[in-house]
Amino acid sequence: TSFGFKEVREDEKRRMVGDVFSNVASNYDLMNDVMSAGLHRLWKDRLVSKLNPFPGMKHLDVAGGTGDVAFRILDSINSIRRRAMQDVLEDDLQEETKVYVSDINPNMLNVGKKRALDRGLGGDKSLLWVEGDAEALSFGDNTMDGYTIAFGIRNVTHIEKVLSEAYRVLKHGGRFLCLELSHVDVPVFKEFYDYYSFSIIPTLGELIAGDRESYQYLVESIRRFPSQETFASMIAEAGFQKVEYENLVGGVVAIHSGLKV
Ligand code: SAM
Repeated sequence: TSFGFKEVREDEKRRMVGDVFSNVASNYDLMNDVMSAGLHRLWKDRLVSKLNPFPGMKHLDVAGGTGDVAFRILDSINSIRRRAMQDVLEDDLQEETKVYVSDINPNMLNVGKKRALDRGLGGDKSLLWVEGDAEALSFGDNTMDGYTIAFGIRNVTHIEKVLSEAYRVLKHGGRFLCLELSHVDVPVFKEFYDYYSFSIIPTLGELIAGDRESYQYLVESIRRFPSQETFASMIAEAGFQKVEYENLVGGVVAIHSGLKV
């Protein structure tokens, strides 16, 4: 039948993820800081420094939520531009730079748009917000110099579809970068991390966001996500070359990267 067990589970998963991020959108940024003790800021900095953004680039940040990664990319491009101090060139490049923040949840994007206004990026023509599904992007083939996805791929229904879409929209020479909560394999630290995620995170979710279940779900989704090595081979299967990964904090998070040649 077409409505077998697998479909029910996928449907359930999609609904859960939708609920989680609608429930947490307004608390999302605070919760990130609390749960990671501010570390997610450094991890995102690292992601963007690996990306090496440049003026004029076309970049797509998928599952971009409230804009954290996109803001960093624009900051990095703007500081290069300021250093270059070539006024005429500067204007040309500003026209060309495009950083798209794409997310399936309009609540997250709306929080992001407000944050952009607060940061004085309201009039920045380079920053574009696009509602959409990572599994079926609305962008053309070979259009992006860079693709990032931070804490996003873990929650999608079909990881392979996301990877093949990433491959499709990137230009030849374009980079794929993924920041995701991953697997800790360091003795003692692993036990501490398990305790932290299974006991403390749901409690923090309850205290701060009034939503224990959503955070419990997030912790479980981390455990179900493929190991660093398995995920790297999935990226290679999607067609990417030079696939590598870097563990941060013993594998609490990993940054995977690949190149479309
Ligand atoms: N990248 C942001 C950050 O690091 O702060 C947000 C990460 S947040 C944990 C995960 C995001 O993935 C949510 O905004 C959610 O709406 C989005 N998301 C979940 N499933 C998605 C899908 N299939 N396509 C696009 N975005 C999705």
